Amino acid sequence: MRFLILSDIHANWEALNAVLQDAGGRDYQAVLCLGDIVGYGPNPNEVTAWVRAYADVVVRGNHDKACSGATPFDSFNPAAQCSSRWTREELLDEHRQWLLNLERGPVLVEGFDLVHGAPDDEDRYMFHEHEAEAGLRSASELLTFFGHTHVQGGFVGEPHRRGFEASCLNALSPQMALVADRKYLLNPGAVGQPRDGDARAAYCIYDSAIQVVEFCRVDYDIRTVQDKILAAGLPEELAFRLASGN
Ligand code: ZN
Repeated sequence: MRFLILSDIHANWEALNAVLQDAGGRDYQAVLCLGDIVGYGPNPNEVTAWVRAYADVVVRGNHDKACSGATPFDSFNPAAQCSSRWTREELLDEHRQWLLNLERGPVLVEGFDLVHGAPDDEDRYMFHEHEAEAGLRSASELLTFFGHTHVQGGFVGEPHRRGFEASCLNALSPQMALVADRKYLLNPGAVGQPRDGDARAAYCIYDSAIQVVEFCRVDYDIRTVQDKILAAGLPEELAFRLASGN
């Protein structure tokens, strides 16, 4: 089966549509979403409605929790607090309720897991090898897809005496065949707010029959999203960072 895997869409309607158009020719049968559907971006209702209608499995992200009122957002940075407050007011009640009831990861899908942050903690970031090693130890499957860092790539774990030693997979070839007996933590990257130095929207396709992951990037109309962010009165930095990809 071929899966379209989306993470950190962050209410970016233009990026989501560019991804869907690009992925349209890649023949997938199911859509998986790793959370942070809303927050930061200007179209929370449109993006939530799409995910509700078309995603087959969804796990919650920290911004989904904050924007639906499940958790406070006082630990967020000022721009994230401002966008969470704005999103809470903007969200239609039915979408807010749906976000509030999203599942906590990891969630098992056909032999692999989905989580927003890390296998041991849905809110934990895995940027570096030492952060990934705790995740590899606690991951119950050989393959886990995660998001949260907005960095496409992830980690591969080589078995050793104490568990797994993580190596970073950030310099990626577009297609990666999984190797048997290795443990993988893979991040499709952020659809709606990439932070890995590449401003293009990120996603991946996973073909479970041949165990190959395709890491994809696609240009989208950043200028339109920036204009919407500024028109909504959201912090300027949320508009500027889309163009920098950081
Ligand atoms: Zn995010």
